[in-house]
Amino acid sequence: MGAVTDAVKGFGVTFAHMFRKVVTTDYPFEHPKTAPRYHGRHILNRHPDGLEKCIGCELCAWACPADAIYVEGGDNTEEQRFSPGERYASVYQINYARCIFCGLCIEACPTRSLTMSNEYELARDSRQDLIFTKEQLLAPLLEGMEQPPHPMRLGDSEKDYYVGALTNPGTSAGAEHSSMGPGRYRLEPHGGVAFPGAEQQADRAAAHGPQEGVVDGGVEAGVPDGSYRHQPGASGRGQE
Ligand code: SF4
Ligand code: SF4
Repeated sequence: MGAVTDAVKGFGVTFAHMFRKVVTTDYPFEHPKTAPRYHGRHILNRHPDGLEKCIGCELCAWACPADAIYVEGGDNTEEQRFSPGERYASVYQINYARCIFCGLCIEACPTRSLTMSNEYELARDSRQDLIFTKEQLLAPLLEGMEQPPHPMRLGDSEKDYYVGALTNPGTSAGAEHSSMGPGRYRLEPHGGVAFPGAEQQADRAAAHGPQEGVVDGGVEAGVPDGSYRHQPGASGRGQE
């Protein structure tokens, strides 16, 4: 008797669904809206003058349980300044073949450089393309921002940038809830997705050749799964 009751209950669930509103989305022409705090693609934010918030400290890389982040710090000089203070990230990569979108990296970031957008279209044809470089992750320059390197415009020291940071959000404001609309990316005719930073990176590669250590179309020796694109002199956690 119990089995019959269970079967009737089961069919009841199926029957009830027949009268519910059908949810069909015309994807990819219509993009389903995510929850406001959805964990999507990362963004490396900027200060209001365009300098990068990232100071190359590697705390995000150490916090990452999936070992998906690779950072190499570089020294700012008065002639070549990318961020306020002493250091900046000369190399920054996130491997989206590894990332589990847990958000621990953004919790670890001391400068609120790293935040997550709600952009979820991250599928790529190759594992190599799933490794996003700094140029791809950096927030686009908003009005009034200037492409680094350039001197500090908001004060004489990094303290002027970080004291009162809540009233100086730069591109952190709203980056967490970035729209899925035009500007963040565009759909290519062949079905891929192009990001603003990818064009910048391609221009740089055309002018200066491939980024040092990047292995074209393959992976670095000793890193069989292609976790990182840039290996020489590495100090990140992924090199242990
Ligand atoms: S979201 Fe989680 S898994 Fe992805 S890079 Fe950040 S810490 Fe690593
Ligand atoms: S994103 Fe944040 S935690 Fe990661 S290296 Fe830059 S400043 Fe440090």
